[in-house]
Amino acid sequence: MQEERVPLARTGRDLLGRTVILNTALAIVYVLTGSLGLQLATLHQSATLVWPPSGIALASLLLWGKRLWPGVFAGAFLVNILTLIEVGRVAAVGASLGIAVGNTLEGLLAWLLVTRYANGRDFFDRAADVYRFIIAVFLSATFSASLGVTSLELANLAVWKEAVPIGLTWWLGDAASDLILVPLLLGWTTMRDRRPWPLWRSMEAGLLLLFVVLIGGFIFGDWLSVMKGPYPIAYMVLPCVVWAALRFPQYASAVMVFALTAITLEGYFRGHGPFAGFSAHESLFLVQLFISVTAMTSMVLAAVVAERRRARDELRALFENAQDAILIVDEAGQTVDANPAACALTGYLRGELIGRKVRDIASDDQESRERRWKEFLEKGKLAGEVRIRRKDGTLVDVEFRAVTNILPGVHLSVMRDVTERKLAESQVRRMNEELERRVEERTAKLREALRELDTFSYSVAHDLRGPLRAMTGFSEALLQDHAGRLDPEGQDFARRITEAGKRMDSLITDILAYSRLSRQEVPLETVDLAQVVDLVLWNMSKEILERRAKVTVKPPLPRILGHAAMMEQVVTNLVSNGIKFSRPGVDPEVTIRAEPRDGAVRLWIEDNGIGIRPEYQDRVFGLFQRLNPAESFAGTGVGLAIVRRAVERMGGRSGLESTPDQGSRFWVELPQA
Ligand code: ADP
Repeated sequence: MQEERVPLARTGRDLLGRTVILNTALAIVYVLTGSLGLQLATLHQSATLVWPPSGIALASLLLWGKRLWPGVFAGAFLVNILTLIEVGRVAAVGASLGIAVGNTLEGLLAWLLVTRYANGRDFFDRAADVYRFIIAVFLSATFSASLGVTSLELANLAVWKEAVPIGLTWWLGDAASDLILVPLLLGWTTMRDRRPWPLWRSMEAGLLLLFVVLIGGFIFGDWLSVMKGPYPIAYMVLPCVVWAALRFPQYASAVMVFALTAITLEGYFRGHGPFAGFSAHESLFLVQLFISVTAMTSMVLAAVVAERRRARDELRALFENAQDAILIVDEAGQTVDANPAACALTGYLRGELIGRKVRDIASDDQESRERRWKEFLEKGKLAGEVRIRRKDGTLVDVEFRAVTNILPGVHLSVMRDVTERKLAESQVRRMNEELERRVEERTAKLREALRELDTFSYSVAHDLRGPLRAMTGFSEALLQDHAGRLDPEGQDFARRITEAGKRMDSLITDILAYSRLSRQEVPLETVDLAQVVDLVLWNMSKEILERRAKVTVKPPLPRILGHAAMMEQVVTNLVSNGIKFSRPGVDPEVTIRAEPRDGAVRLWIEDNGIGIRPEYQDRVFGLFQRLNPAESFAGTGVGLAIVRRAVERMGGRSGLESTPDQGSRFWVELPQA
């Protein structure tokens, strides 16, 4: 499809053309309404209490933007110079220029403030914006009045003594014009809901207008010729103000205020109404004051009502369209309203739900329903899950959340169908159980296999011993009985066979001890650590002496829950490692101490040996794990594996801390007796 291109220059020309037309039209309207206003000037020929151009200018600026300022300027200049020309050309031009600048800036200032702070031409939508609009009007009118009066004074067209009354007149004329005309001129363009009114609504509007005209005519124009004097009964229009605000869109209030203005002014001209009986200027001042206050009041009231109406409509839309079921309930627990989701959930029609007790749709017994209702009222809110019975008798699981007194005596309950979630939950639970069962089955099989493996390695190790004994026995016999017939190399071989055999024997002994640990029953009993340590040190005294080791025991060593023989094995392995892995040239020092730890006892066996690098600290507890070459330290790599398994079988834990080249601190932790 060919894209339609509009040349930029053409749109620019169009815009310029439109702007010129709008400005010219505004200038003409300004001059016409301005001259009309100045005819009513009561205090000074250039300052009037009725000044429609001000409101017309602000409405135009808000509607078409600031590009309309030249129209305002031209209109203001023309209308003023026409009035002033008779007093002399120079003074008239000077003063009119000053006034025109003031009027233009007044419009622009109000436009700026309202667009920036009061939501622009939609200012009557919210009460807060209406307040800001009123402030903008007051400020800009003050500005224009000051500049206008100063211009008159400088051109010697007014005496300074009169500056304040003239300024006040000017101010009120401008402000009243903005307050009455801007809502009237803009209200229609910004009205959102333009659906045609139903007949009764139009009739009511007609009735309101009739009332306004009749009351206005009666009070301000004395149409019935019953007023003997200027009775102060202007307040009688108040009910109409309230009526318009409560029942109709804001625009109706603007129209009503305008109608009142017209009627009041008409009465004023004929010298009637509550404000008659003073000088012409005073009367008109009072009229304009009354109209301005009425305009402000009705604008604020209409905005507040509109806000309330909008909030109610939003709430209703939310209620009608919510996915969750919502029930509105009265003090007795009877449903007063239910949304479509609630009808769908319960299977009842709205009419059937209304009047039904909300707790009666729960499927549990009467007593727990009553209890829940009582708890709800006491706590002010309640949330949980309940099963409800639908109209067709089927049961549905729902999650609910309820609060009391969203309005006095009105409670709210929100419900959601959780049947599917429940189903999914129970499926997950079933799957978990199944999984657990399978894991248990597998573990049992694994345990069985492990036991078989243990038995197997035990018997292999055990059976290896026989041939091994024969080998070492014969190689020893070879050395003892036949040494003479062997050359030195042969003797060396025989010696090596003996040594290898012995190493293998100790390996087998260790493996047997390790595998016995898993097969052996471990009945737990109270074990006195002090006794265990004493016994171990006694058994090791030869080794300790030979190694020139210093072993320190730091009492108290408490009682633990464990297995005495296993504990002896554990302590023996740890102490002998502490002595064995010493640094060259440093006599081994081993300290044994205990400390309480949350119902358990931690036994520390610390040495000053070679230490263990952090990355190996967990590995050393594995079977056959050795960090040092066999030439420097003899061993099988089973000792610590025995420690870990023994402690585990007694229900404890083991571990270590170490700094390489400074020493290691092994610990085992067992329940306190
Ligand atoms: P073994 O002592 O028979 O070699 P262990 O299972 O008792 O076997 O120890 C495993 C390894 O942990 C040792 O080979 C050694 O490298 C290291 N180790 C154990 N205790 C100490 C200790 N107190 N200080 C330094 N290293 C140690």
